Amino acid sequence: MYENLPHEHLIVIHAELPGADWEGTLEHIQKTCYEIPVYVVKANKTFFEMVEHRGMWPSPAFRQCTSDLKTAPISKFIRKFCKEHHYDRVYNCIGLRAEESDPRALKDPFRVDKKLTTKKRKVYTVLPIHDYTTADVFASYGITLEDLANRRRLYQLGNKYKAIMAWPFIYTYVAGMSRHSCKICIMSKKGDLLCSAREDPEHFKRYVNIEKEIDHEFINPGHSTPSLSTILRESQSKQLQLL
Ligand code: SF4
Repeated sequence: MYENLPHEHLIVIHAELPGADWEGTLEHIQKTCYEIPVYVVKANKTFFEMVEHRGMWPSPAFRQCTSDLKTAPISKFIRKFCKEHHYDRVYNCIGLRAEESDPRALKDPFRVDKKLTTKKRKVYTVLPIHDYTTADVFASYGITLEDLANRRRLYQLGNKYKAIMAWPFIYTYVAGMSRHSCKICIMSKKGDLLCSAREDPEHFKRYVNIEKEIDHEFINPGHSTPSLSTILRESQSKQLQLL
């Protein structure tokens, strides 16, 4: 977007999920957006307040976390920004990719946002990297998958500084995450949950404790994925092996 569009018409909106996001997320966005204004929006409840209020985790099928904590505050911001700056056309560009999941593969990369479009304002949802593979994404900053694998090895061996030196993306990919989502995401597969537990066991324990408090197991896709407490134990035993 930065290379292909007039910068004065670009803004970046980040929906922050306090306590659920990885540390450094906002700083990384600010660093990589150069002079493009970055606006941070927040829902009037946190992820944890939402879980506590509902007495259950969000479900992967309906993803109330995405709709209430990301889409709704971003939509609110778009309406307000258009009104204040007299914009009547918006291209809401999102980094979803077809390779990430079957539902994402079926998404139309250029469509009218019927909820945000009015008689006076036309809003399109655009997926500029919908057809990118993971390799394409890393290649956009000159990184190969082999380089990523080497950096991940260094990171696991404890040489974190060298592993992320001159790394243009956020460090979580080098730590082992396949997606930079919430630190623990209801859509995460086992590998990402293990990585998250390794990186921040205290944060992971918080989720395990909430599971007990609300008596509802954290849901992740594929019922073959082990429970959070099993993953936490597994991550700790793997760390012992590494030591
Ligand atoms: S990243 Fe995952 S847990 Fe976080 S809001 Fe999105 S779907 Fe929900």
